[in-house]
Amino acid sequence: MPKYVMAFDAGTTSNRCILFDRQGAICSSAQKEFRQFFPHPGWVEHDAEEIWSTQLEVARQAMANIGATVADICAIGITNQRETTIVWDRESGEPVCRAIVWQCRRTADYADRLKEEGYTDMIREKTGLVIDAYFSATKVRWILENVPGVRERAERGELLFGTVDTWLMWKLSGGKIHATDYSNASRTMLYNIRELRWDREILDLLDIPEKILPEVMPSSGIFGYADPGIFGGPIPIAGAAGDQQAALFGQACFHPGDAKNTYGTGCFMLMNTGEEPIFSDNGLVTTIAWGIDGKVYYALEGSIFVAGAALQWLRDQMKLIDSTPDSEYMAGKVKDTHGCYVVPAFTGLGAPHWNQYARGTIVGITRGCSKYHIIRATLDSLAYQTNDVLRAMNADSGRPLTSLKVDGGASANNYLMQVQADIIGAPVHRPACVETTALGAAYLAGIATGFWAGREEIENNSGIDRTFVPGISGEKREEMVRGWRRAVRCAVAWADDSGD
Ligand code: ADP
Repeated sequence: MPKYVMAFDAGTTSNRCILFDRQGAICSSAQKEFRQFFPHPGWVEHDAEEIWSTQLEVARQAMANIGATVADICAIGITNQRETTIVWDRESGEPVCRAIVWQCRRTADYADRLKEEGYTDMIREKTGLVIDAYFSATKVRWILENVPGVRERAERGELLFGTVDTWLMWKLSGGKIHATDYSNASRTMLYNIRELRWDREILDLLDIPEKILPEVMPSSGIFGYADPGIFGGPIPIAGAAGDQQAALFGQACFHPGDAKNTYGTGCFMLMNTGEEPIFSDNGLVTTIAWGIDGKVYYALEGSIFVAGAALQWLRDQMKLIDSTPDSEYMAGKVKDTHGCYVVPAFTGLGAPHWNQYARGTIVGITRGCSKYHIIRATLDSLAYQTNDVLRAMNADSGRPLTSLKVDGGASANNYLMQVQADIIGAPVHRPACVETTALGAAYLAGIATGFWAGREEIENNSGIDRTFVPGISGEKREEMVRGWRRAVRCAVAWADDSGD
């Protein structure tokens, strides 16, 4: 009997492999960083071969750590940095250029042109997304337009496109599988999320040949098998989902209205909206959560650009803290923020404000304001920003959120989690296993292969480390949120120089 499901967690700066047992506990893990390339300002690239070799290395390492053999592994699930774009030769397997990473802004001008030409509504109605260089579509087009010979080779059917999940599956299967799952497809800006097919009109608009695109498959289901030469036997590749969707699954957010927030460098909040896509009136994007059991489920997504990064700023630039976890103790040294608010709009504001010109602001400073108040106000800013996205989700979905599940590095901060519960006025649940992304990929693969019976079993599996319940009155909450809104208006007003 196989004892483990193996999750590949292919992130932006490192790849990990985790082996989970039937209780969803981590039995072994290995991690390795890979190189980041910044060839021009605003450009970010990865070496696709290195993504593969690192992933393979950590997979072998995770197995070796506990002496696991191929017979012990029930299935492989893959979760990945989303949108990152790779094009390679279907015969030689060689990438035609480095992978263009989701953060890369090289196609920003082209994305702006699409907006100016009036395609915003069409793209949103079909893909659920706002036109942006972030998604794969303009990146694929860039490769076709700019790498010599690539367009001709693509037209001749010699090249394949894929996001990191697709690339890893292709390598893992010895070139037999060219597929992706619904969640990753929905981040390309080429996929029609209502009709569940690559969208002809968008492909024509961007001049992308359909023959390079992967087959889109359920997130939980057998994609194919790992080449027996790799691990010594054929392991089914049975699950795949983009990292944020995998975390939503790993947190067992299976019902409409269930939401999770990941507190990393930025924050990513997703709310399951069930079998119908909800198109946002409040600055959120609509995405496919996953495909499972013959159905497709949707989610609303809101991203916050600066979250944990604001703590890094306190540490590295301001030198107010020695380490980011210290912020918890420091914030506890004072009883409030002394009327001060920090808005960490270092690169503008994301959902639901969408103002790329806003800049970081500290307001309400008086003579008694100390570094502890500033640290506390910085932590609070993560909670306020999350609350803004959450209220947008409530408005779009018509469902008031009853609780929030959290994960990511900064969710370890107990002060922050308590303020979060206070500000949203609902309980915050922190799971026992914080590796929710890898766990989600494992669950998707394990359900497809019978390792777990289904979503019910997983719901029972998911242990809570700690629940934070709101501890302030409704009036206090509204007063704090009103102050935050004024602070955001200041950050936005700063960018407006029309009164000069
Ligand atoms: P990413 O996946 O984006 O690299 P992680 O989930 O690893 O992020 O979380 C790292 C981020 O969380 C960093 O920005 C760091 O500042 C922040 N962070 C980590 N631990 C704490 C903590 N105890 N309190 C506040 N912030 C923290």
